[in-house]
Amino acid sequence: MSGYPPILIWRPQISQDTMTQIITHEIVVACAQCPLKAFLLLRSEDQGTQHEYVRLIEEHARRNWIRYLDIIKQEHPTVRFGNDVDLTIGKDVLIDVPLTFRDLKADSCVLYKTNQVSSFGNFSYTPTIIVGTHQITKEQKLALLFVGYVLGKMQKQLPLSGTIVGADSQTHKVDLDSADRTLEPIVDTLRRWADGSQSTPPQIILNKHCSLCQFQKGCLDQAEKDDNLSLLDRITTKKIRQYQKKAFLQSLSFPIFSNRDDAEN
Ligand code: SF4
Repeated sequence: MSGYPPILIWRPQISQDTMTQIITHEIVVACAQCPLKAFLLLRSEDQGTQHEYVRLIEEHARRNWIRYLDIIKQEHPTVRFGNDVDLTIGKDVLIDVPLTFRDLKADSCVLYKTNQVSSFGNFSYTPTIIVGTHQITKEQKLALLFVGYVLGKMQKQLPLSGTIVGADSQTHKVDLDSADRTLEPIVDTLRRWADGSQSTPPQIILNKHCSLCQFQKGCLDQAEKDDNLSLLDRITTKKIRQYQKKAFLQSLSFPIFSNRDDAEN
């Protein structure tokens, strides 16, 4: 196996510009799927090629968004696309308000007013995001958590819950009370990568998300060159680490591994 970090071999164009790195829901979700993917989204100049299935799901979400807007406009005929000033006025519904807090930026969503007190006054907002699937995934919940987290920073009040609108306008309520403790460690890690204070890429660990990932080709090529153990079918991250630890100790000539150990593993 070649020396660490292998990723720099196939992707030498890691951006040196760390001044304008914005952390979006896409990067947060990527971090949960595969830390290396999030690192590359933040730091690589080559953003890979989007998988056709992912493009299709985004297209479904876009169509669902248009359908949902029609429903909102029927219920709230005066609704309009908002800006962050509208947040402080207290309108009942806001569409597509840009949610930004320092280096965090949440994607388009619908905001509904609640009577929970916030820095805006005797009201605050809860977020609704629109997706293109029938089944709600944990990635979509994490995306909503991120929107709630950014909104919570802006209004100094974490929303109690949010909503995901799936295909056929099915609504799914999600508690957001875990947003801070879920997001803060992820955001801390992403900030260290973004500002360059931690510049070593995470290791390539091929996983079930790889087949949909835009960086798949580069990772597979590099993993093959490195004889990466994660290429083996169904091997778990824990198991890979066990193998790597064992290989490291063996390289130091530790006489602790018997044939029986190998058979058991
Ligand atoms: S291809 Fe796999 S290992 Fe590489 S960045 Fe994507 S998910 Fe991570």
